[in-house]
Amino acid sequence: MRILTVVGARPQFIKAAAVSRELRKKPEVEEILIHTGQHFDAGMSDIFFEQMEIPRPDHRLQISGMNHGAMTGRMLEGVEALITDRKPDWVLIYGDTNSTLAGALAAAKLHVPVAHVEAGLRSFNMRMPEEINRVLADRISSVLFCPTAHAVSNLEAEGYRNLNVEIQLVGDVMQDAALFYKSRARRPESVSTYARDDLILATVHRAENTDDRERLTQIVMALNRLHRDQPVVLPLHPRTRKCLEKYGLKLDLHVIEPVGYLEMVWLLEHAQIVLTDSGGLQKEAYFFGRPCVTLRDETEWVELVERGVNYLSGANAESILSAVGRMRPVTVMDDDQLYGGGQAARRIAQYFV
Ligand code: UDP
Repeated sequence: MRILTVVGARPQFIKAAAVSRELRKKPEVEEILIHTGQHFDAGMSDIFFEQMEIPRPDHRLQISGMNHGAMTGRMLEGVEALITDRKPDWVLIYGDTNSTLAGALAAAKLHVPVAHVEAGLRSFNMRMPEEINRVLADRISSVLFCPTAHAVSNLEAEGYRNLNVEIQLVGDVMQDAALFYKSRARRPESVSTYARDDLILATVHRAENTDDRERLTQIVMALNRLHRDQPVVLPLHPRTRKCLEKYGLKLDLHVIEPVGYLEMVWLLEHAQIVLTDSGGLQKEAYFFGRPCVTLRDETEWVELVERGVNYLSGANAESILSAVGRMRPVTVMDDDQLYGGGQAARRIAQYFV
C-alpha cells in the first residue's frame, strides 16, 4: 500500500506529524511525503519537521509566494507529475489550503483515490479561500475523515450519503498532536523576560482580517488596549506583518516571530485566554483548558461555541474587549467527547491496511 501525502502549510505539518507517525508503524504502508513549499522558511516549516520528528519530505516542489491561481496551478502540475511517476494507491491530503486542493485535483483526474483528513468542515462563507478549497476537496475525495460529528452532519446535509464516498468519523488529529507533544513544552526564548501564568496569547492571520484594513485596525486597537493591563503575546504571521506595514499599523505588545509547536504548547499552558482567528488554535485552547475569543464572524468548530468555551467576537474593538471580559472567567474542561480523545491518527492509519 503506497500512500502519497501532500502537505505545504504549517497546520498541515502538525496534522501530518500525528498521522505519519501511525502510518509508519504499519509495515504494509509506504508513505511518500511531498512538501509543496507553500510555507517554506525555517520558522514556518523546518522547525516543525525537526521538533515533531516528521519524516523528511521525499519531494519538495518549492512553490510559494504567488497568487492563488498561479500557486495552485503549479502545485497541480508538480503533484500530477509525482503521482504519475510514483503510482500511489492513495493520495492523502489535509485541511483546506491550496496544497490540499492541488493534491486532490491532481489525484482525482488521474483516478487515484483521495483521502481527506479534516473533511466536512464548513464556515458557510464562500469568500474564504479555505472554504472553497475544502468544499472542492471533499467533493472529489473517496474517503472523508471527519474530525467531529458536526462535520459528518455537514456532509450529510450536502447529500454525501448518496454519493459513492466513505464518511468516517475518526476524531481530530490535532488532539492527537496536542496529547503527544504536551510533555515536551518549551519556553520560547523570546518570552523569557515576561514569562508568567496569565498571558493573553493572540494570533491573527486569516485573509478576511489581514486583507481588510478596517478589521485589522480594530483588532490591533483591541490587542493594544488589552496589553496595557495584561501581557499580550503575539507570534506574528508573515502575512500579517506585511499587512500591518502596508496599513501603517503598530502593535504595542509582545510581538514575537512565529514559534515552533513545542513553544506554542508552552504559551498555551501559560495563557489565561486565547484570542485568535486560527482554526487550529481554537481547538488547542480547548485541549489546554483555556477559553477562546475567536476574531471572526463564524467558525468551523461550532461545538466549542455551543459549549460556551469559545466566543465569536468578530473584528470590532469594543466587541473583542467585551468578549474577553465575558470569557476570562470561563472554566474549560476537555472531556474527550468532542474530538475523539487522541485516537484519530490511529483510526486513519488502520483504514489503509
Ligand atoms: N502555531 C505554531 N506557531 C505559531 C503559531 C501557530 O506552531 O507561531 C500552530 C498552532 O499551535 C496550531 C497551528 O499552528 O497548531 C495552526 O496553524 P495556523 O493558525 O497557521 O492555521 P489554521 O489552523 O488557521 O489553518
